[in-house]
Amino acid sequence: MKVLYGRVIDAVADEALENGMVVVDGERIVYVGERGGYPVSDSDEVFETEDGTIMPGFIDAHAHLVGSESVHRTGDSPYELLLTTVRDLQDLVDAGITGVRDMSAFGSSLKKAIEAGNIVGPRIMPGGRVMSISSGHCDFDPLMSREDVNRRDLTGCLVDGPEECYRMTRQQFREGAQFIKICATGGVSSAIDDFNDIEFSPEEIRVIVEEAARHNTYVTAHCTGTAGAKEAIKNGVMCIEHGVILDEECVQLMAEKNIPLVTTLSVSLGIADMKGLPEHMMKKAAKLGDSSKRSFELAHRYGIRVALGTDYSNSPNTPFREIGKEFYSLTRCGYSNMEAIKAGTINGAYLMKSDHEFGSVEAGKLADLVIVKGNPLEDIMLLAHADHIGMVMIGGDVKKNCL
Ligand SMILES: [Zn+2]
Repeated sequence: MKVLYGRVIDAVADEALENGMVVVDGERIVYVGERGGYPVSDSDEVFETEDGTIMPGFIDAHAHLVGSESVHRTGDSPYELLLTTVRDLQDLVDAGITGVRDMSAFGSSLKKAIEAGNIVGPRIMPGGRVMSISSGHCDFDPLMSREDVNRRDLTGCLVDGPEECYRMTRQQFREGAQFIKICATGGVSSAIDDFNDIEFSPEEIRVIVEEAARHNTYVTAHCTGTAGAKEAIKNGVMCIEHGVILDEECVQLMAEKNIPLVTTLSVSLGIADMKGLPEHMMKKAAKLGDSSKRSFELAHRYGIRVALGTDYSNSPNTPFREIGKEFYSLTRCGYSNMEAIKAGTINGAYLMKSDHEFGSVEAGKLADLVIVKGNPLEDIMLLAHADHIGMVMIGGDVKKNCL
């Protein structure tokens, strides 16, 4: 057995348990409670933390594990990018990430390799490639044929008309997807569209939603503008990503239908904080940073379930070892440290359809745990860098230990 002593944040209670104890037997947690509340023997492996905090492993609910943020524009082959990604996974684990909801061509293969024990990485829920209309958010190079995009792109694919929506949704499931993501609006980084554009017809969205339902799963939507988000929700989409410009009517609709919202705030607020941008970009970035904050303040007011996502890609601006900055970014929108912690643990597990298995520190659950040096309820920035993560355990296996 493994015995962990320290402060416990279980992601269920609203307060930490001081002087607590967590016992792990095999891959599962068998005890969480007061120190001394469970019998230990000399053969047990003990993790004693000095002012450390035992927490559920972190979950990034919005990732594209493809080795680089600019896959469309680099000369690297998919094989090279896949190998880079394998290395990147180690950085994720070092930063305390034990679960990822991925949207890329690699997710399913990475998941299999991790589960087989061939490589080290977090649990992955693969969503396959992101579906976009031609001219939409994933259409980065209008000079490339649609066929070439669909053959070569590792994060997105282009579909037009209900028939193609059927086919491509089934293709994603064929390649191992466990949920589907579409682009229901344009994007900030798009090559062609405006971020307020509504993308996909109602019929196209319904086809994808119905096909996903037959596979017993849900569709999530990239949404920057609020009009496209409302269209997506009205046609059955069950989760919203980014939510940069959501108005009150949209958030109200989300509350009525119990639709979660996934953050990518470090990126959206980070651009606004960047120095040396050209004047016009700075204005746009500042505006979008402000509206992102407003969207999440609204979500907070309406009690929307918020899960942490990052869109990080291990680029110099988005290093995986600092992926925990997203906890801090959410607290900038009026969320408490504890609310941010739940967003980055149990709420992520909910979106991975696994909150009954992991995402909290409870007896019976899989032992996906981290030990943080210090108290993140006092300083949320302790979660922001891999250097402060003393121990990482996935399914009872210690993947990092520098306590
Ligand atoms: Zn993304």
